[in-house]
Amino acid sequence: MKKGLLIVISGPSGVGKDTLVKEYMKSNNAFLSISATSRKIRGNEKDGIDYYFLSKEEFEKRIDEGDFLEYAIYNNCYYGTPKSEIEDLLNKGIDVFLVIEVQGGLQIKEKMSDSILIFIKPPSIEILENRLKNRGFDSEEMIANRLKIATVELEISKKYDYCIINDDLNSSVRKLKSIIDMEKEKRN
Ligand code: ADP
Ligand code: 5GP
Repeated sequence: MKKGLLIVISGPSGVGKDTLVKEYMKSNNAFLSISATSRKIRGNEKDGIDYYFLSKEEFEKRIDEGDFLEYAIYNNCYYGTPKSEIEDLLNKGIDVFLVIEVQGGLQIKEKMSDSILIFIKPPSIEILENRLKNRGFDSEEMIANRLKIATVELEISKKYDYCIINDDLNSSVRKLKSIIDMEKEKRN
């Protein structure tokens, strides 16, 4: 049986990563990994659906126990990919998406060289700012901080395998599908 593809999706907060992956998954079979985080729950997020919300201490205990495939500190909070399930799904031939930030993405590439790293870029910083404001989750100060982080992330994105500029959503979904199809063909 052919292994599934491990697909890392990174990009600035608010660029549309979740929207893009969820749209792709409406018509394609894949699994979206649920991360753990020590950040506070926001909006109408649900524990075990959007993230596994852990305290800082619980998160650190799980790091010590070797529970994470990768983890990183972003905006003063821990974020990590739980190991459980992922290997299993890949071995069953199911594609797995990790929607994670760039430090974690590069850790995945080191550990699993057959993963693919796709960076999602905004059409412009102004458009990114508007998407963050329209999403309505973050304060002005948090948005300013996210935009600062975004410029560093854009620099690291040069190490990624592919880049998609998320202008029109449908066209981004088509691009994502063609990258995945092409990578699968390469592995035939
Ligand atoms: P991320 O997961 O990268 O933080 P989201 O998927 O939550 O971003 O999207 C942030 C906001 O931008 C949401 O309000 C979403 O509806 C909107 N959005 C996503 N993709 C697009 C797009 N291609 N064009 C316009 N708005 C978009
Ligand atoms: P947010 O607070 O907006 O949900 O996420 C902040 C950043 O953390 C985003 O770039 C998101 O992709 C990233 N992130 C979410 N889960 C993980 C994870 O498991 N590992 C890493 N390294 N980053 C993650």
